[in-house]
Amino acid sequence: MRKIMAVNAGSSSLKFQLLEMPAEKLIVSGIVERIKTDKGAYSFKANGKKVIDRKDLPIKDHAQAVQLVLDGLLEMKFVENLDEISGVGHRVVQGGAYFSDSCVVTPEVKEKIRELCDLAPLHNPAHIIGIEAFEKVLPGVPNVVVFDTSFHQTMPEEVFLYGTPYSWYTDYKVRKYGAHGTSHQYVANEVAKVIGKPVEDLKIITCHLGNGASLTAVKNGKCLDTTMGLTPLDGFPMGTRSGHMDPTVLSYMADQTGKDLKELIRICNNESGYLGISGYSHDSRDLDDAIQAANKPNATKEEIELGKRCKLALDVQYKRIADYIGSFYVEMSGVDVIVFTAGIGENSAYCREHICKRIAVLGVEIDNELNYDNAIRGKVTKLSTPNSKVLVYVVPTNEELVIARDVMRLTK
Ligand code: AMP
Repeated sequence: MRKIMAVNAGSSSLKFQLLEMPAEKLIVSGIVERIKTDKGAYSFKANGKKVIDRKDLPIKDHAQAVQLVLDGLLEMKFVENLDEISGVGHRVVQGGAYFSDSCVVTPEVKEKIRELCDLAPLHNPAHIIGIEAFEKVLPGVPNVVVFDTSFHQTMPEEVFLYGTPYSWYTDYKVRKYGAHGTSHQYVANEVAKVIGKPVEDLKIITCHLGNGASLTAVKNGKCLDTTMGLTPLDGFPMGTRSGHMDPTVLSYMADQTGKDLKELIRICNNESGYLGISGYSHDSRDLDDAIQAANKPNATKEEIELGKRCKLALDVQYKRIADYIGSFYVEMSGVDVIVFTAGIGENSAYCREHICKRIAVLGVEIDNELNYDNAIRGKVTKLSTPNSKVLVYVVPTNEELVIARDVMRLTK
């Protein structure tokens, strides 16, 4: 039996899960937030209950965040001794074309992750800080990196190349890399198991719909195409990201507003998508609630107006998701299964209902009563009716489990 940490370090937060492997049993999960502020916070959850919840303390850096996590594990007796943690796996957003699989961290590996910071400026620097914090606090314990991009390395050149000069690719590595690969791969394999067919015999479209969101065409167990590109800004509109657009929008808006490219890209990353269109929220729960409030018989004029904008924000996203499903359908010459996963895909029945309506022409039909049944939350569920030509499933994702499995595979 081994205790393995799965870590997801962001620029100001650090999420972790401690798992017992190979039993794949979650021991405790937690998050440290607002690192590098005086208002830091951390909480631990075990068996569905908060067992530590501390707020408003100065947390100066990621090394201190890691120390707080390890101290908490000892304090709550999730480990008797830190030696029990025999491996740490880290999620890394951008592995470029260097990494088609997870690997053990070495100085060369860290150098390559650093080199790729330009392609994931919000994420890769934070991952390096997270890795180095664990190296410092748990010396001698192997660290493994699991890349969001690895699964997408099987895309053929005609899929990953843009229509820009070839030298942009050869000299500057400009191409499509994709994101959320760990999740897409996990849910594709899980759904194949549930259906009882080898993943190699299936054509699957995986819809990872969370704050960040992407779709992947998984043909014969391999990624054939995906919606995210050079960076996780591509694809369809998300919580705060715009998704793809005519690149000229940026130079036009620079001329119109005097804002520079960096600021405009920041707006496309942080103030667009649901938030930008609705002018209200980046969270699909808020949009769902506003739409419901607008439909009440006694809704005010303001509620009706807000409901319309929120519905529009969702419709713009659903329209583009349906477009991608159509294009992946053609690309794979059909589709056997569509899988919904991540925060929105797993929890928003509204999103599943309205996306499936838009792709009904492909023979997709779901049981909408089951779709709205709260009892299906957190469970693998088949939503398609017996008449549907395409199977539709909800499969909860579990990126941390994939990370822990990779630590087990790559270290002793
Ligand atoms: P993720 O990035 O996968 O953690 O997804 C986070 C997003 O999932 C949130 O910002 C919400 O938009 C969405 N979400 C979480 N819970 C629910 C829910 N119960 N109903 C609808 N959307 C949800």
